[in-house]
Amino acid sequence: HWIASVDHPADKATVNFTVRAPAGRTVVANGELLGTRRLAGSRQETRWRETRPISTYLMVLAAGSLARYDLREPDCHYGDQGQCVRQTIYVTPENRHWLPGPFMAAGPIMTLFEGIIGPFPYEKLAHVQSTTRFGGMENASAIFYDGKLFDKPALGDATIAHEMAHQWFGDSVTEREWAHLWLSEGFATYFAALWTQFVRGDITYRAELAKMREAILADPVVSSRPVIDSTQSDPMSLLNKNSYEKGGYVLYMLRERLGDSVFFAGIRTYYAAHRHGVATTDDVRRAFEGVSGEQLGQYFDQWLRRPGWAEPSVGWAYDSSVGSVAVVVQQDGTRGAYELPLMVSVTDSSGAVRQLRVTTPAAARGTTVLPGRWPAKPRSVTVDDRVLLARITKL
Ligand SMILES: [Zn+2]
Repeated sequence: HWIASVDHPADKATVNFTVRAPAGRTVVANGELLGTRRLAGSRQETRWRETRPISTYLMVLAAGSLARYDLREPDCHYGDQGQCVRQTIYVTPENRHWLPGPFMAAGPIMTLFEGIIGPFPYEKLAHVQSTTRFGGMENASAIFYDGKLFDKPALGDATIAHEMAHQWFGDSVTEREWAHLWLSEGFATYFAALWTQFVRGDITYRAELAKMREAILADPVVSSRPVIDSTQSDPMSLLNKNSYEKGGYVLYMLRERLGDSVFFAGIRTYYAAHRHGVATTDDVRRAFEGVSGEQLGQYFDQWLRRPGWAEPSVGWAYDSSVGSVAVVVQQDGTRGAYELPLMVSVTDSSGAVRQLRVTTPAAARGTTVLPGRWPAKPRSVTVDDRVLLARITKL
């Protein structure tokens, strides 16, 4: 169960597996199947070759009594070198009868992600019933799933979507250092939510993210440590709500801020620049700055290099001499000051509601005058805090 290697995510390499096993065992590994041949003594040799560079933590092989199921819808997807990418499921023989089951989603998930991100990066994609400490392990081109999920069966399409998203983010574009693990887990978490949005609609997508937000705002690790946690030397400790949920949520807030066309252009630009390579958070920032023309240093720093979330106190003031309304935001607590996009609702004296989007500066006390005029003092001014990672109190 070991490979002599420099076990660091940035040290990527192509890999060949030549496996001699008892005949009748199915052997699955990274990349393309080169062939099998019978050996003396009822043994068999199987050879797999991965021609794309992959990190050691994504190298894998399985050998066991496995039944094979080829997904036939669609027959294949075009990969990044025009290759025909087929998807195959390997399970223990007693589970063969309920296939494809949740893997019926694997074709549409691939179509969705290749449309958003770019062509699939590997030769094939195997989904393997296995043993792994987690629900799934995104080994490059050979996803391993926890065998217990097959026995119930309890495997859902959200897990399949998460692991498939990793083929692009984590596997093809790999975090240069473990501290940037959110580039893998945060992206996979958010792309699983994109699958939810595609297949179950906007309301379910928003509800899933609202649940994620509550979990983030209640989490002690998120509260005390930044997502990019360079002081954490044990990569296993980074498998937490910072890397997964908060990382994914930072992408969600970025999409809300930039809008769909700019956000998805940024995703494609970032992926195309670093596929089959490595990246850090600065590479993501630069890609989004390039497509948006905005400076995003403050955005990435405040959400990823600082522990916790924003805790602004928000009030408002009316200036009757000019009929203007200003939003006053105080951020002088321990969380520090964030640059925050705020959705403000002004209910005027007649009861009519006007919604405005303003950005409050990262300052201990910021006053932002709303565009527009109100001849009489509004009845109320409220701030919508459903999307932001913020606990807003009244000033
Ligand atoms: Zn993951």
